[in-house]
Amino acid sequence: MFFRIRPASGGDRISPLPFGTYMIRRFLRILLLSIVAIAWLPAQSHPPRLVVFVSVDQLKGNVFDRFDSLFTDGFRTMRSDGLRFSRATLNYAPSETGPGHATMSTGCYPWKHGICSNDWINTATEKEIYCVEDTAAEAQEPGHSIVSPRNLLRPAIGDWLKAASPASKVIALSIKDRAAILMGGRHPDLALWFDHDSEHMISSDYYPAPLPAWVTAFNASRWMDHHLPEAWTLLLPDSVYRTFGPDDMPGERRWDTCRTFPHPFMPIQRVDQCIMSPYGNAMLLDLARQAVDGERLGRRDTTDLLCISLSSTDYIGHAFGPDSWEMIDNLVRLDRQLGDFLRFLTSRVGREHLLVVLTADHGALPLPEYAQDMHTMQARRISAADINRPILALDSLLRVRYHATEHVILQNEYVNERVARSAGITPEALAEEVRTGLLRIPGIADVYLRAELESRSTDGRPFLEQYRHGFVPERGGDFVIRFCEGCLVTNGSTGTSHGSPYFYDTNVPILFWGPRMAVHRVDRDVHTVDIAPTLARIIGIAPPSDIDGIALPEVPAPAGTQ
Ligand SMILES: [Zn+2]
Repeated sequence: MFFRIRPASGGDRISPLPFGTYMIRRFLRILLLSIVAIAWLPAQSHPPRLVVFVSVDQLKGNVFDRFDSLFTDGFRTMRSDGLRFSRATLNYAPSETGPGHATMSTGCYPWKHGICSNDWINTATEKEIYCVEDTAAEAQEPGHSIVSPRNLLRPAIGDWLKAASPASKVIALSIKDRAAILMGGRHPDLALWFDHDSEHMISSDYYPAPLPAWVTAFNASRWMDHHLPEAWTLLLPDSVYRTFGPDDMPGERRWDTCRTFPHPFMPIQRVDQCIMSPYGNAMLLDLARQAVDGERLGRRDTTDLLCISLSSTDYIGHAFGPDSWEMIDNLVRLDRQLGDFLRFLTSRVGREHLLVVLTADHGALPLPEYAQDMHTMQARRISAADINRPILALDSLLRVRYHATEHVILQNEYVNERVARSAGITPEALAEEVRTGLLRIPGIADVYLRAELESRSTDGRPFLEQYRHGFVPERGGDFVIRFCEGCLVTNGSTGTSHGSPYFYDTNVPILFWGPRMAVHRVDRDVHTVDIAPTLARIIGIAPPSDIDGIALPEVPAPAGTQ
C-alpha cells in the first residue's frame, strides 16, 4: 500500500470549537462540575479494595439502547445498579486500539501520552514502529515480538496508584499485547497477552517479575482443549436475532465456507476462530479469575487494580460487522459472562469493596453494504487502490513540476523534504500543494497540515480539534487525511473497521458499577480521558496535574477522598 489507510467514518455530534472557546468551555465545565460535586453526598465510606477496569475492544456506545432487551445479566446489572454515561466519546482521532487503551489509562490524549496510532514511522530510521514495539526488551518465549510500554510517554492510573500505595497490585490482561501493555501503564506488576503459536498467556522481560504460578498453571491447563465446543451456536432462538436483520449479511466475511450459524471450530483454524468468537472473552475472564485468586486481589488492606481488555469483540466486529448475528450473540454471551464474573468478584471481594468500570477503545462503522441495504446511514466501501491511484498520479505530476527523481508524497502522510529543498520551497509549502491535489480525490473530505495540527487554533474547522488531540509532532506525518463520513477505505471486499473521528467510531459506553450509585444515567458529553481521573478520585490518589481528563463528579467517591 502506498500509504497507511485511515478509514473515515460519520455523524459526529461534537462541534469542534476554536481553541479560546475550548478553554472557556473547559473552565465552565470544571466550574459546573465542581458545584455538582459539592452537592453529592459520598456513597461509600472507604476506597474500593479492588478496581476492575474493563475495556471491551470495539464496543459501540449504542449497544445498551439497541440491544438492551437481550441483556439479562452483567450488562443489565451494571446499567441498572451502576451509572452509565450515554454520550461518551473519545474526542480524538485516530480511533484505534493503541491510542484507545493509552488514553483511558493515562487520562491524557495521544498528544501527551504519545500513542498516536497503532503504528507510526520512526523518522530517523524511516521504518514503521508498532506502538508497543521495544527493541530493548525480550519476550519470554523465543520467536515472539519484543514489546513493552516504553513508547508510552505518560504514567497511567496503575502507576499513580503504585506511586501512592506501593503495596497495591496492578495487573493487566488481554488477548492483544498493545491493549494489556497500554492499560497496565509503565510499571504494573504484570501484563499478560495471548500468544497465538503456543496458545499461552505471555509477557515480556520488561516486567521484572517471573510469571506467577497461577499463569503457568493456566497455560498448562490448555484452556481451548477443554472449553471450546464443536461449534459456535446461537445462545437464543433464531427469531430473536432475526428481528435485528439477516444472518447472511452483505459484506460479511466467511467463517469457513459459509457465513451463517452454526460456526464449527476447525482444528487447523481453532485458535484464530476461538479468539474471533465469544470463547476468547470467556478465556480471558477465566484468566482474570485466576489473577484475583492467585494474587488475592481486593483481599488485602489496600486498593488493587485489575485491567482487562476483551479483544474478541473487535475481531468479531471486523469480520462480521456490529449489526451481525455474530456480534449480537457475542454481546448476549458477554452479558452472561460478565454477570458470572461480577458474582465471582462479589463473592471474593464483597460488593462494598468493589468498583468496576466498563468502556471501549473505539466503536466501528457498520458493514457498508448492510448500511446501504438497510438505509441506516450513507456508507460505502472504497478500494484502497482507488485512493492510491490518484495519489500516485498527483505524485507524478509534482515530480514533473519539481524535476524530482524521488517520490514527493511519502508513505504514512509525509512529504519529501529533499524534493522541497532542491525545489527551493519549504516542506510546508509543498505539503500545502499536496493538500490541494488530495482534496480533489473523491472520498477525501479534508486534509490537515502539520502546522494546523500543532497550532492552538482550530477556527471551527470540523474535526481539527479531534485530530489535534491525536497528533504527536515527533511521531506524526506532515499531513493527515480525513476520509468522508461513512467511507471504509480498505483492501478487503468484506468486513469493516474503525479509525475515523466520526460518531460511529468514537462513541463508546462508560459504565461505573460500585456500591450505592444514586444516579443511573448521565446524558452529557464526557470522554474516555475522564475515566482515569475519576478512578483516582474514588481511590483517593492524586493524578498528575497536567492530564487532559476531568474526574466525573456524578460518580460517587468515598468520604475523605477528593
Ligand atoms: Zn479493531
